Amino acid sequence: MMARRCEITLDADGCKGCGYCETVCPMNVYERGAFINERGYTPYRAVRPELCVGCMQCYYVCPDFCLDVTPDEVSR
Ligand code: SF4
Ligand code: SF4
Repeated sequence: MMARRCEITLDADGCKGCGYCETVCPMNVYERGAFINERGYTPYRAVRPELCVGCMQCYYVCPDFCLDVTPDEVSR
């Protein structure tokens, strides 16, 4: 079976911890991180990137443009 993998890049310094990405992600990829960034926010992390289906909802909802999702590889 072919499966599309995606690479998720999250700019932790740009993230303001709003949690919109976690709210919209249908695959529960994101969780709040455990450290405070330079701007005083707790950035989110892509903790289950292997579940990503590439729907791009997180990319479009992020108000700070700190998320990127790109097709990574095709595995069998
Ligand atoms: S592209 Fe879709 S499935 Fe992948 S992390 Fe973003 S919201 Fe979740
Ligand atoms: S939507 Fe963007 S700014 Fe908000 S928590 Fe997710 S990555 Fe951070």
